[in-house]
Amino acid sequence: MNAIVSNLQAVRHVIMQAALEAKREPADIELLAVSKTFTPKAIREAYEAGQREFGENYLQEALDKMAALEDLKIVWHFIGPIQSNKTRAITENFAWVHGVDRLKIAQRLSEQRPLDLPPLNICLQVNVSDEESKSGVEPGQLLELAQEVSKLPRLKLRGLMAIPAPADDEANQRKPFAQLRKLSHKIVERGITLDTLSMGMSHDYVAAIKEGATIIRIGTAIFGARDYGENK
Ligand SMILES: *Cc1c(COP(=O)(O)O)cnc(C)c1O
Repeated sequence: MNAIVSNLQAVRHVIMQAALEAKREPADIELLAVSKTFTPKAIREAYEAGQREFGENYLQEALDKMAALEDLKIVWHFIGPIQSNKTRAITENFAWVHGVDRLKIAQRLSEQRPLDLPPLNICLQVNVSDEESKSGVEPGQLLELAQEVSKLPRLKLRGLMAIPAPADDEANQRKPFAQLRKLSHKIVERGITLDTLSMGMSHDYVAAIKEGATIIRIGTAIFGARDYGENK
């Protein structure tokens, strides 16, 4: 068995354990395999082991892989920072976008979404760590953004996403995830339907599952360490 297949099995096992401890259904936690910097061959191996959802951060790299993997039924998620001149290619090629933190970007994704595709699934990225992070809407501005995005016709607002600052122990990892969960509840109380919490990466997904993550975004634990080489 190759490394990717055994890594995937190990991650699935940890998901099961964490779900059990949290008294949650493992099926309610979607594993998103983050394949940035990895080859189409690596993605194909994960696919053959049953993985269907893949996340990419860099548009051109993702488009190249999509072309190479056209024969597979992959659900592609865009999880990187979104530049406004890239929205058309993103909305034409992906099923999900996780990093939306500005109305202008959401409007463009909606306007440019091809009519023959279903609405684009959106997660709003929230800046939950207290430190100066460059991306993510501030919690105080989140409700207004959610209200505006939920009105856009070619988008389907699914939930919230966060990339908290790394913390060493599970208790500290859980704090920002708990904050994201509470923010989500507040939006739902205002009558906006959300069903997704995209939170947790290789180093903190157990904590995220315990705070209600419904999508965990895992790269290193599946594909190994990334080598950004000279182009990234
Ligand atoms: C790279 C990346 C991940 C995966 O990180 P790992 O630590 O390798 O699991 C998850 N989410 C986002 C937004 C990323 O950019």
